[in-house]
Amino acid sequence: MEQVTIIGAGLAGCEAAWQLAKRGISVRLLEMKPGRKTPAHQADTFGELVCSNSLRSNQLENAVGLLKEELRQVGSLILEAADGTRVAAGGALAVDRQAFSQWITDRIRQHPLISVFEEEVREIPAEGQVVVASGPLTSDALSRAIQEFLGQVDYLHFYDAAAPLVTFESIRMERAFFASRYDKGTADYINCPMTEEEYHAFWSALCTAREAPVHGFEDQSVFEGCMPVEVMGRRGPDTLRYGPLKPKGLRDPRTGETPYAVVQLRKDNATGSIYNLVGFQTHLAFPEQKRVFSMIPALQDAQFVRYGVMHRNTYLDSPRLLNRYYQTKACPRVMFAGQITGVEGYVESAASGALCGMELGRRLLGECPLDLPRETAMGALAAYISDGSVAQFQPMNINFGLIPPLGHRVRGKREKNTAIAKRALAALAERLQACGM
Ligand SMILES: Cc1cc2nc3c(=O)[nH]c(=O)nc-3n(C[C@H](O)[C@H](O)[C@H](O)COP(=O)(O)OP(=O)(O)OC[C@H]3O[C@@H](n4cnc5c(N)ncnc54)[C@H](O)[C@@H]3O)c2cc1C
Repeated sequence: MEQVTIIGAGLAGCEAAWQLAKRGISVRLLEMKPGRKTPAHQADTFGELVCSNSLRSNQLENAVGLLKEELRQVGSLILEAADGTRVAAGGALAVDRQAFSQWITDRIRQHPLISVFEEEVREIPAEGQVVVASGPLTSDALSRAIQEFLGQVDYLHFYDAAAPLVTFESIRMERAFFASRYDKGTADYINCPMTEEEYHAFWSALCTAREAPVHGFEDQSVFEGCMPVEVMGRRGPDTLRYGPLKPKGLRDPRTGETPYAVVQLRKDNATGSIYNLVGFQTHLAFPEQKRVFSMIPALQDAQFVRYGVMHRNTYLDSPRLLNRYYQTKACPRVMFAGQITGVEGYVESAASGALCGMELGRRLLGECPLDLPRETAMGALAAYISDGSVAQFQPMNINFGLIPPLGHRVRGKREKNTAIAKRALAALAERLQACGM
């Protein structure tokens, strides 16, 4: 049986290695630690959590809770370690980070089919099955090799400067209206008007809100290319009204007048279940984004499926490059997994490693693909990163907006999400059974 090479023993790489080894396939796992570390990694162990020790919600009515449950169902190593090293954190699954990472390292090192080599990979191996799971801080040499392998410079991004995303259903449409500036073209934007009083309260909260810490490796170039909305706001009380909050050319149909200021929201996916705040690239801390942006009247109850970020993040333009098995379309023996594919977050990275490993394992064994449907969280993530219809690809956390709606009405958000989660687990169980897993 052919041996698989995996680059990077992070959350995705370890999970992919585990899924392959479980199927009797031998793995060569190449990790540059401890000889060389990214600016965020400190430990010598694998599956290191570089920041928070929380894997977020463990509740099924939350999309990341569903993703965790799906991972448990497919025998994930990362979830086994998380459940085994859990610390009290209410409805979230938080872990003792050292014990968690040690658990993963022990299981990987003790597996007879996994051989670990401590070396920095500087080239994509020229032959054999390869999974690149080198993460958002992939070493410079390997980043160059990936760029060369992909053949075009703009297929690999190094910084992520993104505005927050909200679900359509959480927007208070009684405080917003559809229109395009000067009624040009179709009314594609959702416009969130503000009165003078509302604007000034928002502006002063924005200018004094707490920013996220800047890591040493996130140099100024991240912020120079694209000005954060709070920095623009600090230039003066009216600067935003001549920038992203410009009301010109927009008339509120309820008053027939041009509002004092307008925040525009633009569709972020083809189905229109998710919208982004246009021009709101921000470096504010996540709780501050929720507090300040919820002061926009139409966004008072907004559900943020992703907060704005401006940070170093190496990721592929996956919809142009990958299929839903995480294989490169141009050279299917080379796969990518983890944050580098544009999934965002610890659990999402592990999930992409799991799916990539399971599908590769099945291919090597001559079995049919698992083909998880989009109704499952794992299938929805894989569909998102490989969906060519996404206009401007941005890394994304799992959220219910990526999963097709139920097709029937369920009252209450929590009840609706629980119903979607139940449908997902049933769909997963059906596929696992059909595939003899
Ligand atoms: C600073 C920072 C903070 C983050 N905080 C959070 C958070 O709080 N919560 C959250 O959910 N997500 C967070 N993320 C996002 C993401 O979930 C994590 O980065 C996650 O660890 C990604 O998993 P991964 O397996 O893709 O990559 P990683 O876990 O980073 O694993 C990649 C591995 O590849 C190795 N590697 C890199 N280059 C090479 C090479 N050339 N040769 C061999 N090995 C190599 C690295 O040493 C590393 O061990 C954060 C990301 C960053 C950068």
